[in-house]
Amino acid sequence: MGDDIVNAIVASRIARPDCQKGFLLDGYPRTVPQATFFASLLKQRGLPEASVIHLDVPDEALVSRLTARRQCPLCLRIYNVISQSPRNPGLCDDDSATLTIREDEQELVIRKRLRAYDELTGPILKWYGPSKVRTVDGSRPAAEVARALAAMASEFVLTHA
Ligand SMILES: [Zn+2]
Repeated sequence: MGDDIVNAIVASRIARPDCQKGFLLDGYPRTVPQATFFASLLKQRGLPEASVIHLDVPDEALVSRLTARRQCPLCLRIYNVISQSPRNPGLCDDDSATLTIREDEQELVIRKRLRAYDELTGPILKWYGPSKVRTVDGSRPAAEVARALAAMASEFVLTHA
């Protein structure tokens, strides 16, 4: 999706009443032109500047998470060799077919995607600068990450109220 379309969607969504007391956007802005547009949109609407939460997960942790998935080519059941492994390694519990790794989850493909992602997000984090960006260690267990995010969100509400 092009920047113009994404920007228009965000602009119309944050104009709705449930966004009056603040809102959290997930994965936007993703490019510097989007960030520039978003900054002027907030200004136009008389809203405070954005705060950014950077969910940081080391590449190695992402790669090992993503490459842990296996799929049965017959029944399409999904396994995870770390958290949901089949009874017999490499074989589907239901039909004993040999599990496969999806092409887009192979390590090289994942590493390429991570590099592309870093090339996009690096400039955005720089554009906002350290005073606007707070980093959460996303490699911690999901419940801990959720708690950290909730604590930050309420802090934002307080500072912007
Ligand atoms: Zn199966």
